Amino acid sequence: MRKVTFPHMGHSCIPFKMLMEELGNEVIMPPVPTKKTLDLGVKYSPEFVCLPYKIVLGTYLEAIELGADTLIAVDSYGPCRFGHYSHLHQSILQDMGHEAEVICFGYPKRNYLDFIRKLHRVTTAKTPLTSIYLFYKAFKKSWEKLKALDAMEKLSHQIRPRELKRGDTSKVYRQTQAWLDEAKTYEQIAEAKVAGIKAFKNIAIDPQRQVLKVGLTGEIYVLLEPTSNLEIEETLGYMGVEVERSLYLTGWTQDTLGQSTKEHDTAIEAAKPYLPYKIGGHGRETVGHVVKYARRQFDGVVQVAPFTCTPEIVARTILNKVSNVHDIPVLTFFFDEQTGKAGMTTRLEAFIDLLKRKQQSVITAAAI
Ligand code: SF4
Repeated sequence: MRKVTFPHMGHSCIPFKMLMEELGNEVIMPPVPTKKTLDLGVKYSPEFVCLPYKIVLGTYLEAIELGADTLIAVDSYGPCRFGHYSHLHQSILQDMGHEAEVICFGYPKRNYLDFIRKLHRVTTAKTPLTSIYLFYKAFKKSWEKLKALDAMEKLSHQIRPRELKRGDTSKVYRQTQAWLDEAKTYEQIAEAKVAGIKAFKNIAIDPQRQVLKVGLTGEIYVLLEPTSNLEIEETLGYMGVEVERSLYLTGWTQDTLGQSTKEHDTAIEAAKPYLPYKIGGHGRETVGHVVKYARRQFDGVVQVAPFTCTPEIVARTILNKVSNVHDIPVLTFFFDEQTGKAGMTTRLEAFIDLLKRKQQSVITAAAI
């Protein structure tokens, strides 16, 4: 039996654990990334690579230490560096003397045979056909779990800025994740979701509180992994900001599997006048999402990305114009191992102050 692990990215490891177990593997849960994870990744990575690469390498090393022998990764294609990650990870691990194998899944639509061949290696089924059947069954159930987790996360974004006691929402959110992690059957997933919604509704809030609405967009890993963005969503929530993120794992999975979501398609359409080409990563989507947030009268947008992320750097330069044309303030954070939470919080506070003053001047102008 393989001992598999995978990168830690938001709550994705919860349904992914279920998927891998149901395929017949022992799962070594990737530890939540910490400073130690990042230090490990930084130590063994080429200096120029992006932050997610370093965190993922650190995670692999920690998981190998815990006994993992198979590292599951996903692949991409196109102009950014993501497509080289798994190959580079594999050769660095080999150079370090580790025998763990990286199995990297590309977009199924681009090469079905390759996908099935790799899938068969991580199932206990006897034939590739039974592997596909096993995968279909396991994926369907894990998908329900993922949908429930995304729903919980969206609720946390709405409730946190209105909570009366700081920290209540985060506590409930962590509890709902644990309930969903424990759920093994469809019924248990449904029950955990209902219990989660109830727990969120029981949080004491101030429904009259004036909150700002801010869109959060950018590169997928930094967007979804709280450790890499220094818990920016939670920080904004505590500042009285309702965050709406442009990307959730359910949407990303659908887009990746070729069932383009409305959120994705409308973002591509909105970006067209400014950036009509794919530039890798989520650069084009970032531009489109800012336009969409402006059209929906959001108070502002925060763009997050790893330091040296080329697609997001391109997007950032275009966002100056988007911000002027659509009259929406945009704040950008490029994260690396040197970024500190105190500095980020100070910049966010100044940004929120600016948004509040802008909101106030609109209200005053309307009253005259
Ligand atoms: S999208 Fe950005 S961070 Fe991700 S691999 Fe490409 S360049 Fe690196």
